[in-house]
Amino acid sequence: MSTPEVACPTCSAMSPWSSSNPYRPFCSERCKLIDLGGWFEERFRIPGQPAPDADGEPQSTPSSPDTEPGTLQ
Ligand SMILES: [Zn+2]
Repeated sequence: MSTPEVACPTCSAMSPWSSSNPYRPFCSERCKLIDLGGWFEERFRIPGQPAPDADGEPQSTPSSPDTEPGTLQ
């Protein structure tokens, strides 16, 4: 009989779906932790609040006084 295989949700690697793999359907503990980490981030995101990187770019500053045209002397 053959051991069914399942694709790891994290890295898509095929791993045996058996009791020998305690991390199934993940291929390894590392992939399981990665997936749980992403899951936690989703849950901890407060509904109604925009994602930190969704509104406004932190790098773009509105007109720096140092580079104001006309004041070059
Ligand atoms: Zn994996």
